[in-house]
Amino acid sequence: MLHLENIYKSFDNFIAVNGANLTVKKGELVAVIGPNGAGKTTIFNLITGQLKPDNGRVVFKDEDINKLSAYQICRRGIARSFQIANIFPRLTVFKNVQVSVLSQEGKSKTLFYPAKKIAVEKTNSILESVGLTDKAEYPAASLAHGDQRVLEIAIALGNKPELLILDEPTAGMSPDETSATMKLIKDLSESQGLTILFCEHDMEVVFNVAQSIMVMHQGETIIQGSPEEVRNSKDVQECYLGVG
Ligand code: ADP
Ligand code: MG
Repeated sequence: MLHLENIYKSFDNFIAVNGANLTVKKGELVAVIGPNGAGKTTIFNLITGQLKPDNGRVVFKDEDINKLSAYQICRRGIARSFQIANIFPRLTVFKNVQVSVLSQEGKSKTLFYPAKKIAVEKTNSILESVGLTDKAEYPAASLAHGDQRVLEIAIALGNKPELLILDEPTAGMSPDETSATMKLIKDLSESQGLTILFCEHDMEVVFNVAQSIMVMHQGETIIQGSPEEVRNSKDVQECYLGVG
């Protein structure tokens, strides 16, 4: 579904991404791991069009998306969350998700059903799928940090993505919140057949859930493989564990 082929990206003279490769197959749950500064967020920005690569190709569903704007890429079916929660704090949980559902529905005008009514049903089903139904009427700002990050996933789901990209979805979470969120991500992947790409700096978090893991170190792809292959890789042990 998604291929990154030999991607490079520099900022001034600093090479942030130095030959990265990544493959995400339809329905897969894929993790990118690497220490802080490895280039994970930059890779995600290159996929979603916030940044353009200096070299290399980003291919989504057989289309070269290098030249597309972030908006066009979103319309192609890629939605993301950011490393720092990105919500409307004074709106309720429900409204936060409904705004995103409505912006999607606006495109597909239906003659038979008011968009707003569809949005209410869709919003409720998204809140249900992430476990925020009970908190639907709370102002987003009143949620605990972990729930705010989950709300962000719900907002991304409002875009009806084919590929959901999550940048450190468990950043700042307690160990309990982290395991609940990883379980949620696994559920979304398994029960909804959603293709999910996420990144993490903590190796242990990903090994239980990811089907495929890409390891980054100083902007390079060290390996992409199954958790087993990654665990046994000499290169990973030298590069990543030495640094971590
Ligand atoms: P990660 O998400 O793996 O922690 P990033 O992709 O955020 O890493 O950053 C990779 C490297 O690129 C870091 O050294 C960071 O300081 C640098 N970097 C990222 N964005 C910019 C930018 N806009 N300008 C300059 N340097 C940047
Ligand atoms: Mg990052």
